[in-house]
This record gives sequence, structure tokens and C-alpha cells, in this order.
Amino acid sequence: MILLKLERIDEMDHQYHVCDDEHCNICNGGLAYCIVCYGAEGSLTTECCGRPMTEEEQDRVHMKQNLNFRDGEWKEESNLRWEREHADQLRNQ
Ligand SMILES: [Zn+2]
Ligand SMILES: [Zn+2]
Repeated sequence: MILLKLERIDEMDHQYHVCDDEHCNICNGGLAYCIVCYGAEGSLTTECCGRPMTEEEQDRVHMKQNLNFRDGEWKEESNLRWEREHADQLRNQ
């Protein structure tokens, strides 16, 4: 049981931006924007890396789609999170 708990702590969720500014473009647009790694929508990794991504990392995650952060480490793979979430939205319509 203790081991299970430790594994859960190791999973890092993005800390999404929320505020009470009614003019906030991020909140009004319903954008997923992480205030820890600064990933947003297509540049969000599967798990949060726990620090701001470098420009190169953001570029590889978002544009080149050959970098992802999962299971506590960087992996040479596409995150595909954005596509997955939008696929779900399309199915629910
Ligand atoms: Zn906001
Ligand atoms: Zn994050």
C-alpha cells in the first residue's frame, strides 16, 4: 500500500492556470496552460516536468512532436495529448 502511494506522488500533473480576471484570454478561451512548465495545449507533455521547459523542449514537444515527458522522464516520442483531447471532444459532440 505504501508503494502504491509513492507511485502516485511520482505522477506529476500540470498545474493549470486559473484566475478570476474576467478578461483573461487564457480562462475565456478555455486554454490549458501550465504555470509550472509553461506548456499549453499542443505543447503540453503527458506529465509535467516540474520546471519551465526550455525553448528547444517546447519546440520539440509542439512543432516537431518528438519529445514527451512521461513516467518521470523525457522520452523521444510524440505527446499526442492535444490530438487525444480534441478527438474526445469531437466524439462527444
Ligand atoms: Zn486566467
Ligand atoms: Zn506542466
